[in-house]
Amino acid sequence: MSAQTAVTGVLIDNQWHTGEAELFGISNPVTGAPIAQVACASTAQVDAAVRAAQRALPAWRSTAPADRGALLRRMAEQVEAQRPRLEALQQLNSGKPAFEAGLDVSDVVATLAYYADLCSTGTGLLPQAVALPDGGFHATLERVPVGVVGLIVPWNFPMVTTAWKLAPALAAGCTVVLKPSELTPLAEIALLEIFASAGLPPGVVNLVYGAGAVGQALVQHPAIAKVSFTGSNATGQRILQSCGPRMQRVSLELGGKSSLLVLDDADLDQAVDLAVGGAFFNAGQMCSATSRISVARPLYADFVERFVAAAQALRHGDPQNADTTLGPIISRKQQQAVLLRIQTGVADGARLLTGGSALPGLGGFAIAPTVFSHAEHSRALWQEEVFGPVACVRAIDSDAQAVAVANDSDYGLVATIVAGDVARARQVAAGLEVGTVWINTPQLIFPQTSWGGFKHSGLGRELGPWGLQAFQELRHTVAPS
Ligand code: NAD
Repeated sequence: MSAQTAVTGVLIDNQWHTGEAELFGISNPVTGAPIAQVACASTAQVDAAVRAAQRALPAWRSTAPADRGALLRRMAEQVEAQRPRLEALQQLNSGKPAFEAGLDVSDVVATLAYYADLCSTGTGLLPQAVALPDGGFHATLERVPVGVVGLIVPWNFPMVTTAWKLAPALAAGCTVVLKPSELTPLAEIALLEIFASAGLPPGVVNLVYGAGAVGQALVQHPAIAKVSFTGSNATGQRILQSCGPRMQRVSLELGGKSSLLVLDDADLDQAVDLAVGGAFFNAGQMCSATSRISVARPLYADFVERFVAAAQALRHGDPQNADTTLGPIISRKQQQAVLLRIQTGVADGARLLTGGSALPGLGGFAIAPTVFSHAEHSRALWQEEVFGPVACVRAIDSDAQAVAVANDSDYGLVATIVAGDVARARQVAAGLEVGTVWINTPQLIFPQTSWGGFKHSGLGRELGPWGLQAFQELRHTVAPS
């Protein structure tokens, strides 16, 4: 791919079109070099995509769930078959090290396969008899697809957030218009090419490339029955407001400021490993980043020394090199935003233990893994999402304090607990106001478990049967026996 490569970013009725609105340059975040240009969809093209999804809806929602399952399974197989291509695009457009790009493709395959299984067994899809106390009547529950859905995803896990929405939407019988992030369309476009070639009927999945204006046009389209959004809180709130008057259904997966809690019986090596993964995987650009780390006081000094050393040992560079363990920030603008948060942290009195600056690397947007201590709890560094490789550490004196510190947040997405005694860790977990808790476990996300958060981290849940329900309406029919 070269700077001049023009990528077509609008898919309507299985036909690719060049966008009719402004041209966007896509960069390689490792080198900063331009890699392609994509034209955004016009409002008329957004409308055409939604109309195509509307036309495709009656036939698609009438297909047998088992047939939808067979198609989802074919999609999973074809993604697996094209793994090298998708991993290469994920590395090129997002700068992800090879092992991270590989995990993304595996996640997409697992998600498609999970919803294929639900469809094949009819779980959560077939009509169900409902027991009634009056034998003179019987009731039936049907789960009806909500209709045409708009899926809007961010740049930090291209393909993955898409699969988490698209697979259950298709399983439910909905038709789709997807808007990927303006920063990371390349793997998403390739993914949709693969899906179309797997045999998706025209109009069932459509794509409109563009930035906020395209997202807004999609959300405001009167034929969109539901919006499923992953991204920032600011945009999520705007979407919620926009959907309210028309009663459009909304699911929101938003930000986080999550804790890693190291209890006093923890294995220190494990604690450091999990802290590094939780803070620096994907260069910390994770809603689930465990960027506030609370360590039992007896372990604190040793933990900090080892965590700082481990952060310093991460290597940024060509994503294809096996020893590259740290990716870049996605864009210059986002890099500057993260550096500003670091500077604000220093100005607010936090103590910088390592990192804190841009990494020249290969010319792109990387930031050195950064660790702070002494971050004031009321200040932005401790309370607000950084979305970069920046962690804060503090000491705690009891399990109760660990819980209180973790819950002292507007967000409630995830937490990690590192402990010798798992029963004790479970007791701590029971007090946490978060959607997912990992105990002595890296941030594994299985399609069988739910994803989503308490408080400002969002509305609703993705994955599992809950992800499917998010694209369904319920209808009960009551009739004489
Ligand atoms: P963002 O909100 O700027 O953009 C997300 C998507 O929304 C993009 O596709 C963007 O083009 C689109 N968009 C922007 N303005 C819009 C509007 N007015 N109407 C409709 N669509 C609009 O977020 P981002 O910077 O791409 O992503 C980072 C944020 O996403 C972080 O805050 C992170 O925590 C959050 N995130 C959450 C999860 C989760 O599962 N909870 C996962 C990944 C990212």
